[in-house]
Amino acid sequence: MYAIKDQLSASLREIDDAGLTKRERELTTPQSSHVATTAGEALNFCANNYLGLADHPDVVAEARKALDEWGFGMASVRFICGTQTQHRDLERELADFSGTDDAILYSSCFDANGGIFEVLFEAQDAIISDELNHASLIDGIRLSKAKRFRYKNADMDDLRTQLQAAKDADARRVVIVTDGVFSMDGYYAPLEQICDLAEEFGAMVMVDDSHAVGFVGEGGRGTHEHCGVIDRVDIVTGTLGKALGGASGGYVAAHQEIVDLLRQRSRPYLFSNAVAPSVVAGSRRALELARSSGEGRAQLRRNTELFRELMTDAGFELLPGSHPITPVMFPGEDGARQAAQVADAMLRRGVYVIAFSYPVVPTGKARIRVQLSAAHSEDDVRTCVQAFIDARSEVLGS
Ligand SMILES: *Cc1c(COP(=O)(O)O)cnc(C)c1O
Repeated sequence: MYAIKDQLSASLREIDDAGLTKRERELTTPQSSHVATTAGEALNFCANNYLGLADHPDVVAEARKALDEWGFGMASVRFICGTQTQHRDLERELADFSGTDDAILYSSCFDANGGIFEVLFEAQDAIISDELNHASLIDGIRLSKAKRFRYKNADMDDLRTQLQAAKDADARRVVIVTDGVFSMDGYYAPLEQICDLAEEFGAMVMVDDSHAVGFVGEGGRGTHEHCGVIDRVDIVTGTLGKALGGASGGYVAAHQEIVDLLRQRSRPYLFSNAVAPSVVAGSRRALELARSSGEGRAQLRRNTELFRELMTDAGFELLPGSHPITPVMFPGEDGARQAAQVADAMLRRGVYVIAFSYPVVPTGKARIRVQLSAAHSEDDVRTCVQAFIDARSEVLGS
């Protein structure tokens, strides 16, 4: 064991020497737009709490009530004795929301993505995946024996090339897999063109919409609604761990046959505990609030627009877009250090943001990724912008 411990310590040192050690900041409060950490109070601009539902009183109350009515845990997988009526209710509601026949719950979207590909795609099939897809899609695809093709991020010419390659390889089933929103850029996948190409080549379309469900599109139904292709997407996966309450859980929403087959064969579904009753109840309430809350989405849009406008006026470089993920760019050789120092200086001013640099994003494209929430007030947004301006003068002297 001593030799192994030495090897592991060497790996840890390597990570640290490269400046890549992730240090977890501990909150001493619930997740919210205003939090406290062990380093003091802060306005939070780095959570996926897009609609502010993570500590919404109705969601908390519903989860609390469920503890009394439904108990603490299920102590069973779904197919043995782990299915309450509310699990099926939530699945039907998620399907209705997504515009699909049915849906199936997992412990997380990571599990949903990990459990879908090997069930649906065998050696004679082909999976065509965007190069920037989420780690869970990459891992899930690895578990399948299907032929794999990768296309450049949102590049429709390259997607066509890969579709042709899959066709030339005589693939039986072909699926195009993409994130609905790319989380480092806040860019939407071009779903209309993707659906057009899928139709032309007889392929299916699968979208992981974790950074969209609940708030993207007129009714908050996701990127497929935003792009006007609700009826043309075959499979949607999503998380309950971001806008929809932020607790935990994920799902696949799809055609009936797909959901039915996953219930029979999907390993993370079959061999992992059912989602906790209080989480199911709270998530149902969160989904209901998201569906009925045009006001939350409007507030989120206003906050995003205001932040973009004020930051642009202050001379910051932002990636273009409208998603509440708003990358503030620190280009060039020294960008990684600048972004990290500006983020630190902002935390000292009570604003919590995170800097990302290589290898999470390409070299020379360091950024601070700001995430707006409907829970932010206009004042919160202005405070954040002022902190950016002050931190920039402290770090860069400009
Ligand atoms: C967050 C995220 C996941 C993981 O969701 P969990 O429910 O937390 O496992 C999967 N895919 C994408 C695109 C995500 O952004």
